[in-house]
Amino acid sequence: MRPHVLVNVAMSADGKLSTRERCQVRISGREDFSRVDQLKSESDGIMVGIGTVLADDPSLTVKSPALKEGRNDRGVEENPVRIVVDSTLRCPVDASVLHKGEGRRVIACTARADPGKAALLGAYATVIRAGDDRVDLKEILASLYDMGIRRLMVEGGGTLIWALFEADLVDELTCFVGNMIIGGGTAPTLADGTGFIREDAFIRLDLESAVRIGEGVLLTWRIRR
Ligand code: NAP
Repeated sequence: MRPHVLVNVAMSADGKLSTRERCQVRISGREDFSRVDQLKSESDGIMVGIGTVLADDPSLTVKSPALKEGRNDRGVEENPVRIVVDSTLRCPVDASVLHKGEGRRVIACTARADPGKAALLGAYATVIRAGDDRVDLKEILASLYDMGIRRLMVEGGGTLIWALFEADLVDELTCFVGNMIIGGGTAPTLADGTGFIREDAFIRLDLESAVRIGEGVLLTWRIRR
């Protein structure tokens, strides 16, 4: 068994999640920010790849006091369980995700991760080993399900999102498309990795809605199975 997996990103009109320098950029506005905060507050877990932690140092916390209170009223911690996918435990010990806000953290790594670093990070997060070379995403999702996570939001980046699509582990995709062109052949996109070659391998989506938000558009897709 695994959680329901929702991927949420903000991308430019040309499909980039960031610049070629991979620094955090503002793609959406206040309205979309509130929508994402709401999504986060409705999730049991929120996952990112180590590339995103190293590039953006996100805290992944719920920002609105009212939404935090709503979670408290529901008897759950203020923030969803925060999960970092990090094969060799490159996560800095002072990463914001490990220190900001209340709630549990999980770092998913592989058998080759250094036990000393695992012990250091273990002071702030539950370190789970899954896989040998890269984190076995199917296995880690099963572990998260066993921890009670039923609804998992994935915030990026493109390498992790690609791997989840490739392993057929995504159920829903929400994508805010902002009114700018970022460009750059090496800038991260919604799904990077190796990509599919054959048309019959493409992941097919059903469009649920397309809604204008501010100067952009929010697309909601279901994954066709
Ligand atoms: P990423 O997807 O956050 O993390 C990828 C890393 O995760 C891999 O390089 C790998 O590193 C690790 N990993 C471990 N197991 C994996 C597996 N089975 N499959 C895939 N990855 C696995 O990194 P990224 O693609 O470089 O994306 C970061 C960029 O995206 C930044 O520029 C950030 O600003 C941007 N971003 C944008 C948004 C948005 O909504 N606009 C959201 C998030 C991020 P190891 O091999 O070391 O484990």
